[in-house]
Amino acid sequence: MSNPARAPQKPDGEDANLDVALRPQQWDEFVGQERVKKNLRILIDAARQRKEPMEHVLFAGPAGLGKTSMAHLAAREMNTSIRITSGPAIERVGDLASILTNLTPGDILFIDEVHRLNKLIEEVLYPAMESRMLDIIIGKGPSARTLQLELPPFTLIAATTRVGLLSSPLRSRFGNIFRLEFYTPEELERIIMRSAGVLGIGIEQDAAATLAHSSRATPRVANRLLKRCRDFAQVHGMPRITRDAIAGTLALLEIDALGLEPMDRKIMQVIIEKFAGGPVGLATLAAASSEEEDTITEIYEPYLMQLGFLERTPRGRMVTERAYTHLGMSAHMQKPLLS
Ligand code: ADP
Repeated sequence: MSNPARAPQKPDGEDANLDVALRPQQWDEFVGQERVKKNLRILIDAARQRKEPMEHVLFAGPAGLGKTSMAHLAAREMNTSIRITSGPAIERVGDLASILTNLTPGDILFIDEVHRLNKLIEEVLYPAMESRMLDIIIGKGPSARTLQLELPPFTLIAATTRVGLLSSPLRSRFGNIFRLEFYTPEELERIIMRSAGVLGIGIEQDAAATLAHSSRATPRVANRLLKRCRDFAQVHGMPRITRDAIAGTLALLEIDALGLEPMDRKIMQVIIEKFAGGPVGLATLAAASSEEEDTITEIYEPYLMQLGFLERTPRGRMVTERAYTHLGMSAHMQKPLLS
């Protein structure tokens, strides 16, 4: 089973199945993100009235917040099919050409992790997005020639966890960029209660509220922890998930009341103990905490920043007073207050 610390990353196997099983099927099951939902529904309604495909959309925000789920809901509402791929999966121009030419009119093409799309492929995507033209070069050297194909009308919905890494020509081709926000504990509690219902898991309301606070403000994490809690309750002979079952599961996983895991704490401790609280550059921090740079920026940092424990400055990462307090350390002593 995967570590919940890794939960926000794209899941595979059993966890991917969990994502699919719990994906909201209608708008009223999609909790929160009201501003994005409202804007998206206007786009959808306008397109339906004009009998045209919806405009291209970019969703930005940390993993597990519902970008893929929203794309599926948009397809359902537009009554079209959705073709799913991702930036790293499109390795060659030919891969993109084959996806685009196989679309049916009106289809939604969902490209996840679009910031990882290779620049050569991006260049092919521009005319496809703007004027539904696909320029492909056939042959090599002096005998090479360009072939222009007209594509069926389609909507590109792209998602990224790192909007800052997107090239500006690509970003500017999206008329609509929606940023998804972290969820409140109340929203997560609703998501947990719904997921428990879908999966047939009994959970007490106050247990769901407790779990919501430890779910890194992220629905995917909430759903995975819910499953872990179910296992815990089952092996301990509890008929449903209680607050005790939550406490026991979180203790086993070394997750604290704010949802922080050992690696979150390690990152903050390394900054405090080895770099006097920062600033420290990402590469140095990654080496000192034995974690990959991408994992730090995509998984740990967003939530630590959301909690106000970490700041990104032009000179590097710094922890805040709050981080010292949470870890029971003093900014002056840089040592634990309690041993
Ligand atoms: P992303 O594409 O941003 O990584 P997903 O759309 O795959 O996130 O969401 C991960 C899981 O979290 C989905 O299976 C879904 O069950 C759940 N989820 C995400 N957002 C919501 C939401 N707003 N309401 C209910 N469930 C959600």
